[in-house]
Amino acid sequence: MTETIPRPRDAKAVADGEAETSPALICSPLRIEARAVRRGLGGDGGASSPPVSGGVPGGRPPRATVTRTGYGTTRATRAAGALSHGSFGQLIIMGVGAGLSADLSPGDLVVGTDVDGVACGSAPLLAAELRRAGLSARTGRITTVDHLIRRGERAALAADGALVADMESAPLAAAAGGRPIAVIRAISDTPNHPLAGIVSGGLAALRSLRAAAPIAQRWAAACGTHQVLLAGPRSFCAGVERAIEIVERVLERQGEPVYVRKQIVHNTRVVGDLESRGAIFVDELDQVPDGATVVFSAHGVSPAVRHEASRRGLAVIDATCPLVSKVHAEARRFAADGYTVALIGHAGHEEVEGTLGEAPDSTILLQSPQDVAAMQPRDGDRVAYLMQTTLSVDEAAVVSGALRERFPGVRAPGSDDICYATTNRQAAVRAVAAESDLVLVAGSANSSNSVRLVETCERIGTPAYLIDGAADIQLDWLTGVTTIGLTAGASAPPAVVEEIISALAGLGPLSVSERVTTTESIRFGLPKEVRQ
Ligand code: SF4
Repeated sequence: MTETIPRPRDAKAVADGEAETSPALICSPLRIEARAVRRGLGGDGGASSPPVSGGVPGGRPPRATVTRTGYGTTRATRAAGALSHGSFGQLIIMGVGAGLSADLSPGDLVVGTDVDGVACGSAPLLAAELRRAGLSARTGRITTVDHLIRRGERAALAADGALVADMESAPLAAAAGGRPIAVIRAISDTPNHPLAGIVSGGLAALRSLRAAAPIAQRWAAACGTHQVLLAGPRSFCAGVERAIEIVERVLERQGEPVYVRKQIVHNTRVVGDLESRGAIFVDELDQVPDGATVVFSAHGVSPAVRHEASRRGLAVIDATCPLVSKVHAEARRFAADGYTVALIGHAGHEEVEGTLGEAPDSTILLQSPQDVAAMQPRDGDRVAYLMQTTLSVDEAAVVSGALRERFPGVRAPGSDDICYATTNRQAAVRAVAAESDLVLVAGSANSSNSVRLVETCERIGTPAYLIDGAADIQLDWLTGVTTIGLTAGASAPPAVVEEIISALAGLGPLSVSERVTTTESIRFGLPKEVRQ
């Protein structure tokens, strides 16, 4: 099933292929700014600038050109009028600017998210690339004024949401005419250093511009026409939605702080958001004050943790996913029936720790067929196996197959332990990976199911990258790439997927389609403590 999600497209660029075949144009208002940029590019600019590799596989690399556009709004307007008819693929504006925030320092770089209403969607990608290159860079709004910033004027501009003021970017941005645009301003003066100007602050800014130039060139190389294939289903599962809702409801009812043992779900965005609202995440119960309420995470806990909470008199609200609880129950039942329980999973994962704790004397952790060969059950005729819920379907099948081969009478769980969400997301990403040049997987590094999505793509030969958000996308990944698969692990918020699409749309014409392999309607009820 394929759905097409309409996205803004740059009709002009699509029509003439300009974004792919023409050079990037770098506009710098002042001679010294243009010189710094040219030096950063490793040449004297213009025809001798180093090549930009371009976004078209096999296409001839376009070459970046650097042009001086003149000081002030009048010259910038005139230059933009002339340049807008030129043939260039991307517009990059690079110059110095006045910082409007006290936490900026001379030499810091600001990548414009918008310039007086002109959106620069890929700013997070470019700023992150600058940071990875060791530069101090952030994103923010850039505003253009028609005079040098006067004393006391910074605060009013900052109050309007701007981070930098300059005298050229807005009129120059008009020259983009729908082409990809990036604006990099290096801070020369700030509220705390208002007179740094052309002296020390200006020099620091020029050094930063020079260092930023090759990164700007990388941005241009990543631009082009892209197609995003969204895997469906993706993002939050029912267990994660339930766990987050539990913490939110406890916060609403009890106010902050609310203690949560371990990360409620394995995602930095989710955890950061809940922390900002008053949740306190702790590693162990001894970090929870006596008498407090503690929420157990979606991954579950061992009986030893429950006993400790009870001994301490803590009020427990259990956000363990019901599908994890099911595996715990199976472990208890098999162990009570005298079986050795072979738990297929990853050592150290919280879910595995919790399940192992249900019957520690009867359970053996298996991570590979070699572990199957080495295991010594009490009775080879009484072996049962269970699985971590977020395993790779393919890899788990290899281990369970080895178990069946060695112990033909091995008991299996009543129903699959690898949960519906894990299975569905792996099937969906496999479908898009088969059609994609690369796949981006939104999810955190400690998210088992997200890591398994990357592995699923790699197993069929498609490069895949795990990213917490758009800022983790490295521009080199996109160079020469046309079709980008996109999915999100079960613990990654849907908003991250939207953020990634917005950033990619800033690199040129973007179409977004969805490949839906199945639909999900599962919902889990809330524990009685937080029900209405
Ligand atoms: S991934 Fe599966 S087991 Fe884990 S919380 Fe989601 S539904 Fe539950």
